[in-house]
Amino acid sequence: MTERNKWVEKLLQWFDRTGRALPWREQKPRNPYHVWVSEIMLQQTRVDTVKTYFTEWMRRFPTIDALARAPEEEVLRLWQGLGYYSRARNLHRAAREVLLQWGGTLPRTREALRTLPGIGDYTAGAICSMAFGQKTPAVDGNLLRVLARLYALDEDVLSLAGRRKITGLAEKVIPAARPGDFNEALMDLGALICIPLNPHCDQCPLAAYCQGFQQHRASELPVRKKKAPQKEFHAVCLLVQQENAILLHKRPDKGLLASLWELPTFLAPEKNDCLLLARENFGTFGDVPLWCHKHVFSHQIWYMEAYEAETPAFPLDASYRWVAADELSALPLSGPCQRFFQDLREKRAGGKNKR
Ligand code: SF4
Repeated sequence: MTERNKWVEKLLQWFDRTGRALPWREQKPRNPYHVWVSEIMLQQTRVDTVKTYFTEWMRRFPTIDALARAPEEEVLRLWQGLGYYSRARNLHRAAREVLLQWGGTLPRTREALRTLPGIGDYTAGAICSMAFGQKTPAVDGNLLRVLARLYALDEDVLSLAGRRKITGLAEKVIPAARPGDFNEALMDLGALICIPLNPHCDQCPLAAYCQGFQQHRASELPVRKKKAPQKEFHAVCLLVQQENAILLHKRPDKGLLASLWELPTFLAPEKNDCLLLARENFGTFGDVPLWCHKHVFSHQIWYMEAYEAETPAFPLDASYRWVAADELSALPLSGPCQRFFQDLREKRAGGKNKR
């Protein structure tokens, strides 16, 4: 056995002893639909959070067929709280395509899987290896980090060249007998031991084979170029009420927070421009905000303020809807809008407005 394969064997032994028991790992052999949904949910979301969402999702949409036939609003409502709603929309669209083109069963090749909305290289690799036993690495941040440290690579892991190099290394060592376990073991190791900051090398089953550790460079790796800073905006939201109803606005079906409902919201880089825009559209309103909140997205930061305003004089088009307070939970609301209503409820119940 080569040195290269010895670390794989150690990794799998460690995984057999300590692999995490997770709801989507319960069925053996693995259910491709479960692998797919869990991998999409796990993008940008913590495992503990995903557990609850996954269980509820499978209760409501136990099959691809059930998901494909569900209305979009219900799919988005179940996703509420996970953020990055394009993931839910793509799951739904892909389920419909699978039903129409593949008879309700996920295709078994990486190429065919990649034609489905929301399925990229990583997810296709995860499904092919875990559900279909194919030798395809699932290259995500965990795998990139662990392998960059193991081999002490100096390439930028976010560059195409760095990614290609690591993918090539993974393809050479992924074992034919247990490709899915190899990918999951790397995910678990990356999540529990070889974590981004201060990896727990003293507890690592691979320490004897890890060049990064032996060269005392584990914490410096992987090499990454700095990301562009997030763009900052001011956002003015208007709480407009009529009897027991609140005026909500549906966002366009493309772009950030697409198709989600929110309070009428005006966005601009400068706060004064934002207020001006809101007043041009909704008339005058007071100077004291009802709510202040900083909302951080992956590429943007919104400094938000909400004000009470009057019903606008202009005719409301189809993107606006009066919604009774007890109907709010039935609509897919944007993350900032959910936060607004949560803070408002707490404030009305006597809690403090969080700023
Ligand atoms: S020894 Fe340290 S750096 Fe190397 S794989 Fe293990 S945890 Fe990561």
